[in-house]
Amino acid sequence: MKGTSKRNEQDIVVLGLIGIYIIAVGLLGFYRMWREEYAMMVLDWSLVAVSIGIFIYQWRSGNTRLAGYYVSVLAVTGVVLTVALKGIGQVLWAYPAVTLVFYLLPPMHAIILWSAGLVILSIQISHASLIDIVLISSTLIVTSLFCVLFALKMKQQNTNLRKAARQDVMTKVHNRRAFYEDIKALKATGQPLTAIFIDLDNFKNVNDRLGHVEGDLVLQLATDFINKLLKPKHRLYRMGGDEFVVMTHQLSWQDICQLAHSVHKKFADSPLAKKHQLTLSMAVGGRQNDEPVSRWLNRLDGALYDAKKKGRNQVVLLSD
Ligand code: GH3
Ligand code: MG
Repeated sequence: MKGTSKRNEQDIVVLGLIGIYIIAVGLLGFYRMWREEYAMMVLDWSLVAVSIGIFIYQWRSGNTRLAGYYVSVLAVTGVVLTVALKGIGQVLWAYPAVTLVFYLLPPMHAIILWSAGLVILSIQISHASLIDIVLISSTLIVTSLFCVLFALKMKQQNTNLRKAARQDVMTKVHNRRAFYEDIKALKATGQPLTAIFIDLDNFKNVNDRLGHVEGDLVLQLATDFINKLLKPKHRLYRMGGDEFVVMTHQLSWQDICQLAHSVHKKFADSPLAKKHQLTLSMAVGGRQNDEPVSRWLNRLDGALYDAKKKGRNQVVLLSD
């Protein structure tokens, strides 16, 4: 069960709205029973039962997705039904409804749902006076348009933020945080995980000879060089300092070893490596079945340490 401390504001808003809906429609069901409108009573209490199910699902899972769609559909149908039952004045409820729909749903889904709502509302207001039609439709269109623009802007900003949070500032490859996120995601899919650990040999010497600013540039060029040797499906992560990891989950063991040796040799032969007397120590190893990730990474760390101990400039293979 999800702890309350982890609930975000969207979680709370959705739970609150479903809670209010359950109480209001539940009481309405009693009113229907008192008025002997049994068909409506059954309808109300069926909606309450579905809402309780969704409330419990969200409470336990913390996943707002399903409940978000449910609340959005309820909001749009609620506005349309209220206008149908109580008249055009109730169209004012469309304004909070459109903001709620765009707050809860991904932009494209919100656009589709709200467009359907707008089509029905436009039929409903077509009987109103001309001045009301102009007023209602223009304000609704402008509000909807700003909601769309706001939602698209938020989506773009979220994408940019997520990208920045996963990128190493200096080398522009993925960072340590992205590495652990991706491992978690790959582990969840049940795919075998294999990685190549890479550490530059004697990189301190570059700093000592040329200074840190020039050292930074060499580190960037070395990262670019290694990255260009990889295919897009092999992600390069800078774990910190002069230490990198290549994640190679879709290759056979033989192909991974071949890739590691090829990177090692091509780097050693590069003008950059020759100019700065740089070589790579590397360790290659796959995660064994059900092995804890931390243990697998520790084994790779140990193998990299072995490569350093054995004189650097070599690839150590961790067989199963
Ligand atoms: P080894 O062969 O054992 O790996 O020795 P090393 O000299 O490469 O040193 P080590 O890997 O233990 O430590 C990494 C060094 O890289 C420490 C620091 O001098 C340098 N370094 C780490 N991060 C940066 C950075 O962002 N910029 C620069 N210029 N140097 C860095
Ligand atoms: Mg090093």
